[in-house]
Amino acid sequence: MRETRVVPAYNSQCAICRLKELRLLDAAHILSDVLEAGEPTIQNGLSLCAIHHRAFDQNLIGVSPDYIVHVSRRLLEDEDGPMLDLLKGFHERSLSVPSRSADRPDRERLDIRFASFLQLAV
Ligand SMILES: [Zn+2]
Repeated sequence: MRETRVVPAYNSQCAICRLKELRLLDAAHILSDVLEAGEPTIQNGLSLCAIHHRAFDQNLIGVSPDYIVHVSRRLLEDEDGPMLDLLKGFHERSLSVPSRSADRPDRERLDIRFASFLQLAV
């Protein structure tokens, strides 16, 4: 993944929480490199902060093809202080996507990824 292109496409912000600290931002893959559809393009990436990147990779947070953030039941039902409350607060909120439509996340890839979130999320 050419991280240098993904994060700026999102105005250098986390697509979920809008955090703007570059040192905490990653280019996350929607579909992993090992899969055929996991090509290193901007449309296969999301600019995410470290905590949202990890949560996305671990299926604790999913993004549906209509660009809505979904928090796993496991996190929603847990109660463990202010950071968790913050994570839960993004449930069913809209993803912030790039202003250039060509840079927005690919809905087909999100659909595939979201299906595994629904299957794997606990
Ligand atoms: Zn974030």
